[in-house]
Amino acid sequence: MKLLQERILKDGNVKSGNVLKVDSFLNHQMDIELFNEIGKEFKRIFADYNINKILTIEASGIGIACITAQYFNSPVVFAKKAQSINIDGAVYSTKIESFTHKKTYDVIVSKKFLNPEDRVLIIDDFLANGCALAGLIELVRSAGATVEGIGIVVEKGFQNGGELIRSMGVRLESLAIVDAMNADDGSITFRN
Ligand code: 5GP
Repeated sequence: MKLLQERILKDGNVKSGNVLKVDSFLNHQMDIELFNEIGKEFKRIFADYNINKILTIEASGIGIACITAQYFNSPVVFAKKAQSINIDGAVYSTKIESFTHKKTYDVIVSKKFLNPEDRVLIIDDFLANGCALAGLIELVRSAGATVEGIGIVVEKGFQNGGELIRSMGVRLESLAIVDAMNADDGSITFRN
């Protein structure tokens, strides 16, 4: 998505530790005009999939998922990061290791909000090692629901998440794939 690539080049900052900072428009301050274009693009890509629910993870995925959901006329469910969980049977849960915080979270979704008839589009802001997505896929499958597709805003193609998730046989589409970035000179190279 050209508009997104241009915005990343203009306002993104490459930090050490393979972190791309896009907090002026994507995951702290949010540019809703850009989010609208992102939502339209996900709708164009997944138009034929009969999606009835969007799943994301708190916090950064929520804004993107909500704007996208307007194009699918579907509700959004976000997986919650819990400090500790009581497994009383009322939630689906998994563990996710955070790339940015280097911490493992228990992540939960109430059983009320994922059902076997759900055809789910998973949305998130970033794909790095694929831990967040693998956890979300597990939550959907625990419910007997179907992952119809995954929409990612920025995939870091030099990390192994894309390969891992695509090898699971799930359709994964990223609107921008960064193939290389350099914290010293700030350069960012996209996959065409
Ligand atoms: P993964 O689980 O694929 O390793 O990492 C995905 C999660 O880590 C995303 O939900 C995102 O919040 C965060 N993340 C990973 N890499 C980056 C990055 O380069 N920049 C930012 N801002 N967040 C990232």
